[in-house]
Amino acid sequence: MDKKIIVSACLAGINCNYAGKSNTDPGIVNLVKQGKAIPVCPEQLGGLPTPRIPAEIKDGKVVNKAGEDVTRQFYRGAHEALKIAKMVNSKEAILKSRSPSCGVGKIYDGTFSGTLTDGDGIFAALLKENGIEVRNI
Ligand code: SF4
Repeated sequence: MDKKIIVSACLAGINCNYAGKSNTDPGIVNLVKQGKAIPVCPEQLGGLPTPRIPAEIKDGKVVNKAGEDVTRQFYRGAHEALKIAKMVNSKEAILKSRSPSCGVGKIYDGTFSGTLTDGDGIFAALLKENGIEVRNI
């Protein structure tokens, strides 16, 4: 079996982001159409609604703009999405930039001001820990 690439579902045209919209990337859509990529949305898999209140990581916790701690849902979803990645023996993921789940290297800083800081989203970090190469577009 060819190795599958895990991709952020919002990049594949799925309306799963916090606003109930997608961040469609035609190249990613093509990978899915060709059967080369599997779309996952860790925030939905963690039980969060769509649309949902945006969240950012601050001091190791994920807190939404209403001040609610959603760390548990983020980790739950990341682990469920990791299960899918392992099931298809994926070694590579292409994820949505800056997201508190999917961001690689740079994420929002927890102040909801559009400011970026160094760090990985919860899902991106978990994939890395499990030997899966992650990058953003
Ligand atoms: Fe997209 Fe990832 Fe956010 Fe889901 S969690 S909407 S896949 S960036």
